[in-house]
Formats: sequence, structure tokens, C-alpha cells
Amino acid sequence: MYLVEMKNLKRPLVIAGPCSAESREQLLSTAVAVAEAGVRIFRAGLWKPRTKPGGFEGVGAVGLEWLKEVREQTGMQIITEVATPAHIEQVMKINPNLLWIGARTTTDPFAVQAIADALKGTSIPILVKNPLSTDIDLWSGAVERLSNAGVASIGLIHRGFSTYEHKSYRNAPLWHIPMEMKRRFPSITLLCDPSHMGGSRTLIAPICQQAMDLMYDGLMIETHINPEEALSDKAQQITPAELKFILQNLIIRENSKEIEGIGAYRSEIDELDDELLKVLSRRMQISREIGEYKKEHKIPVFQNDRYNEILQTAISKGKEIGLDEAFVRSIIEAIHQESVRLQLP
Ligand code: PEP
Ligand code: MN
Repeated sequence: MYLVEMKNLKRPLVIAGPCSAESREQLLSTAVAVAEAGVRIFRAGLWKPRTKPGGFEGVGAVGLEWLKEVREQTGMQIITEVATPAHIEQVMKINPNLLWIGARTTTDPFAVQAIADALKGTSIPILVKNPLSTDIDLWSGAVERLSNAGVASIGLIHRGFSTYEHKSYRNAPLWHIPMEMKRRFPSITLLCDPSHMGGSRTLIAPICQQAMDLMYDGLMIETHINPEEALSDKAQQITPAELKFILQNLIIRENSKEIEGIGAYRSEIDELDDELLKVLSRRMQISREIGEYKKEHKIPVFQNDRYNEILQTAISKGKEIGLDEAFVRSIIEAIHQESVRLQLP
């Protein structure tokens, strides 16, 4: 599965434009400047899924003509979000080049199925944003539903996940989840949306670079002619000039020699992972033995003081050798949990 568009394009495939279409003026002026920055696909949301009521919910079908004008005036392709079969019916009138499914919609299998059914018989490429939650099966389930309905070109947009912690990002990246999607669908096009992930202007450039270093195919970046006045997602939208600067300064590493050089690191990582597994196996064997001992001597399995001591020692030793506290804590917690499980009757 891939986007037809990707075949002849160099990385990154860039989609840019405002979070929402607000007026004809705003859309056209943004589009002209975005095209000047070298972008070939223009985005704008017409129907906005807002988490809370009372916000700007989009101009709706009125904006379809504006999008069409953008394509006519700039030659860029156009993409917008669809969440219902009614949206698809309306948007088909302007023959969009691509469509995307938003994060809230991917969360709902009924909605995705309804969209897939409405798309039967069309040949429009569809980009599927990751669901808000970390349930990867919702994301891959959406891809399967579209694929089963005959959608030939499917891509993914990684926009980060809604979590209680990780407040430095609006939505935590959790890069391993899209990597697992690439494992499940090896040829699928993968884009990163640094705007919804970072939630703030300053994070756009570093996230774009990270995505390129992780071999993403492209980027979807919210760009507004006047971000301060934006009716939605104001804090994360950048100007077309900022977009141009970010794109010009991206470092694209795809030199085959550099990629070959990774091989040596990879074998070292494989060896170390192997060692780690063997050490863990020995650790669990001791846990089983101590479990037997506790049972014989009627000692309770879990002792809070001992666990605390193990955790604190590991954290301070870890610090000395440059390991992050949260990382050490999560490893020790996982080891402890497994160890307690093995000792329970
Ligand atoms: C958007 O792209 O403007 C949007 C609503 O995104 P998401 O579905 O990722 O929240
Ligand atoms: Mn947005």
C-alpha cells in the first residue's frame, strides 16, 4: 500500500495549509504563499472535530469552492478531512486529490467502516491519522477496513497520542507505534504531523527533523497566513515564511553509504539485546528460587521496603552511568512485576 504520489517524489512529501479554512481570502493568500515555499499539496479542514463544544467547527461545504480555487490558482493538489459519508458526498463535487481521516474518527470503527463503504469505487488516496489512544489495532483496523473496501492508495499520518502525562508535547509521539505500523504494512506511506504532535510553533522544526531521521516519507504541517488570528489551533500554526525556512533547513539523510554504515551499529545492538535477555532469564530464575525459599519459610512474597531499596539503588546507580531516571524506574518496575508474578502460587 502506498500513495501514488510518492512514486516519483523525493522525501519529504509535504502537505501544508491551515488547520481550518476560515475565509476565501485567508485560504487563497495562505495557498499562494505556501506554493511559493515549494509545497505541492494544500490542506485545509472544512469540518472541524472539536473536542469541546463552542469552538470554531469549520465553515463546512461553503469552503469547497475556495479549495477548488486554490487548486486552479496555484496548481497545488488539495486535501481535506472527512468524517462521515455526507462529507464524502459533498467533497466529491470538487474531485479532491486526497482525503484524510482525523484522529477522533480513526478511534471509531463504525465511522471508519461508513467512510470505507462511501469510498467504494473511488480511487482517491486516503491518509489515516493515528487514533487518539495508543490502541494500535484501531489504526491498523482502519487501514484494513479501507483496503477491504478497495481503496488502493492508503497512507498514515502520525500525529501523536493523547496521554495524561508527557505534557511537553500536545500529543506524545510514542515513535514505536508508527514503527510497528510500518512493520505490519511495510510499503505504506508514512507522514508525520508535527503540528498536532508538538502543539507549539517552536516544536515544529525539531519534530520534522526527527521524522526525517526516522525515514518518514513526508510531513503535514499546519501553516496560516496569520497564525495569531487563526480560529483553531493558533499556537501550533506557522507562517508560510517559517515553513519555507524549516523545509530548507531539514537534513535529509538517505545516502546509501550512510545507511550501510548503520549495519555495524545494528549488529552491536542485536548482540547487546541478546545479552540483556540472557541476564533477564538468570534474574527470573533467581526470583523463582527465592520464591520457593519464601514459601518454605512462610515469608510474604512482596516486601515494600525491599522493593523501594532495589528501586532507589537502581535509580542512583543508573544516574551515575547516564541513564534516565524514568527509564530505569520503568525497567525495574517491569522486572519487579514479573518477579512477583513468578513467586505467586
Ligand atoms: C487537523 O488536522 O486539523 C486535525 C483535526 O487533526 P487530528 O485529527 O490529528 O486532531
Ligand atoms: Mn488542527
